[in-house]
Amino acid sequence: MEFSSKLLENAVYEMSQLPGIGKRTALRLVLHLLKRPTEQTQKLTLALDHLRNDIKFCTNCHNISDVEVCEICASPRRDRSLVCVVEDIRDVMAIENTSQYKGLYHVLGGKISPMEGVGPQDLTIGPLVEKVKKGEIKELIFALSSTMEGDTTNFYIYKQLEGLDVNTSTIARGISVGDELEYADEVTLGRSIVNRIPFENSLKAN
Ligand SMILES: [Zn+2]
Repeated sequence: MEFSSKLLENAVYEMSQLPGIGKRTALRLVLHLLKRPTEQTQKLTLALDHLRNDIKFCTNCHNISDVEVCEICASPRRDRSLVCVVEDIRDVMAIENTSQYKGLYHVLGGKISPMEGVGPQDLTIGPLVEKVKKGEIKELIFALSSTMEGDTTNFYIYKQLEGLDVNTSTIARGISVGDELEYADEVTLGRSIVNRIPFENSLKAN
């Protein structure tokens, strides 16, 4: 792609670094911003700046939050003995949308994936095990996507919990295999949380 302007080329290059944005789309977006009032671009860059500089992660569940302890963890109405283990904030949002779950969450920040160089130490598995050791959690619900990486991560955590006094369960795999949790419809996802099964049973099924 030949550019008549270095400024334009730089902007397109940076935009094209985003996932799913090719050079052509990047050019379209940049030209669109140029046509719009300057304030629109300023609002966008300000919002991104604030996001990067001010974002926090809940010290308890590691979910993205504007404050030290997120709203879910701070709520007195949530069942603190129940913790749902998820990959990222999209899963929290999907499960919250079902209105079927009243426990807390633990956000891992990804899945174990040797292919992508993600090991257990890159995720919040250590803090999760420490939390369980405190003894307040009665049940951990694994709600990772049913991919090989999801299964590996579940099993790794399960092994780390050996000897600890906690029940483990997994959301019923009625939701189609391989689908990311965020795409499951609310009714199906809600039902799969309510009808969750002991984790040991899911191992026997494999
Ligand atoms: Zn939290």
